[in-house]
Amino acid sequence: MTTFTENVKYLKNYIGGEWVDSTSDQKERVVNPATGEVIAEIPLSTKADVDRAVYAANEVFKTWSQTAVPKRARILFKYQQLLVDNWEKLAKLVTIENGKSLSEAMGEVQRGIECVEFAAGAPSFMMGKNLPDIATSLESGMYRYPLGVVAGITPFNFPMMVPCWMFPIAIACGNTFVLKPSERTPLLAARLVELIEEAGLPKGVVNIVNGAHDVVNSMLEHKDIKAISFVGSQPVAEYVYKKGTANLKRVQALSGAKNHSIVLKDANLNLAAREITNAAFGSAGERCMAAAVVAVEEEIADELINKLAELADEIKIGNGLDEGVFLGPVIREGHKKRTIDYIESGVDQGAVLVRDGRKDDAVNGEGYFVGPTIFDHVTQEMKIWQDEIFAPVLSVVRVKDLTEAIDLANASKLANGACLYTDSAAAVRQFRETIHAGMLGVNVGVPAPMAFFPFSGYKDSFYGDLHVNGADGFEFYTRKKMLTARYL
Ligand code: NAD
Repeated sequence: MTTFTENVKYLKNYIGGEWVDSTSDQKERVVNPATGEVIAEIPLSTKADVDRAVYAANEVFKTWSQTAVPKRARILFKYQQLLVDNWEKLAKLVTIENGKSLSEAMGEVQRGIECVEFAAGAPSFMMGKNLPDIATSLESGMYRYPLGVVAGITPFNFPMMVPCWMFPIAIACGNTFVLKPSERTPLLAARLVELIEEAGLPKGVVNIVNGAHDVVNSMLEHKDIKAISFVGSQPVAEYVYKKGTANLKRVQALSGAKNHSIVLKDANLNLAAREITNAAFGSAGERCMAAAVVAVEEEIADELINKLAELADEIKIGNGLDEGVFLGPVIREGHKKRTIDYIESGVDQGAVLVRDGRKDDAVNGEGYFVGPTIFDHVTQEMKIWQDEIFAPVLSVVRVKDLTEAIDLANASKLANGACLYTDSAAAVRQFRETIHAGMLGVNVGVPAPMAFFPFSGYKDSFYGDLHVNGADGFEFYTRKKMLTARYL
């Protein structure tokens, strides 16, 4: 049941530095998933709204792209300070709209701030290259330029970090930006643009068009949008990549995940259990780097599963703003139902339910809670092994050795991250060389790279060539010009 709070915030679109009404009367309710209360409403904007935002962004591109790179970077330095000053307020907003615990939200804000810090290094990353002597009296040089108007489409699970993967680097390079935040978590994005305006960003450099698939489709078709950064679920990522590139845009589309962890018998089992618990149940499993499957060597499987079940029993479930809460709600009632359906399918397909998250008290109260759920004896044929559940459900598969575990992980179509728990250098080497996944952890549960490295999904977890963040981010948001010159 959703209920209206007294302070429902009506969000508009942020275009050309002003909050403006959408041309649409259709609205979407934004709900606090821990309470079921409606906290905001957003317009489901139209093509006309996208046109207006792109027009504003295109106009200011003429001057923003000519603004000295160090001057652009200085605005980001100021922005970084404002974000630091507002750290806890931003984190609370993340918790209220997304549900994750306040400490996780504080961590997420930190990750966003780190992206801004990295983007402020634009003067170094925008530098070109040259060779003074390609022949007698002939030189050649490469210069980097922004693309124009670029767009970002973001998911609900990291309302701060994911937009910060995109617009800080994009604008530091001299592009202008149109963001469509998730319709389920649009509040933080609104605060992000208010703060960047306070940092001195010219009006129209960053714009927000709120809404859902109509906005996305209009962006994919808009001739003046030169590049699209997308983060979201696999089918939508594939669609955005195919349609965006068919319309001759540069596209990077970060997609779904089903991350495997492997535990070998020489691992520190206490550490492994702790890291896996955090990675599987933190943020209610709604992380693209969540641990979804654990492949454990048969000899230590019982011991590991007992430890995982004990740790899961200790988890405090509730509103992420409350002291000591580790596990908040999943994002919506429908997602809770879908998760429960997956738990039922696991039971029906013969997995052993070690801990049943449907039985936790919080599940029957307000909000969309599902307790930590652990399955043992999961096999590749089961839906709980195959699909991204994106909820606090962990599947344990028993294997005979590392090779079998890696083969199993490599059978998954999704390949964002993978983790290995071991004390063996040889095992680490085999894992690194033969696993088909982009972000690897060794004795680390959530190996999300920091902003100066690329966020490197493989297979169907990523469509495109250049990843977000790191040098890839600067490559994605710039194009090059080559000058060959003879001086007479
Ligand atoms: P989602 O695909 O439902 O939505 C993402 C964005 O796409 C939203 O802005 C939404 O409005 C838009 N969208 C949704 N359906 C659409 C459609 N049919 N046509 C056009 N646009 C559409 O994803 P979500 O549920 O918000 O986020 C969770 C997903 O994101 C998970 O699959 C997770 O793994 C993935 N994710 C991946 C990464 C990564 O780095 N690979 C990071 C974060 C999240």
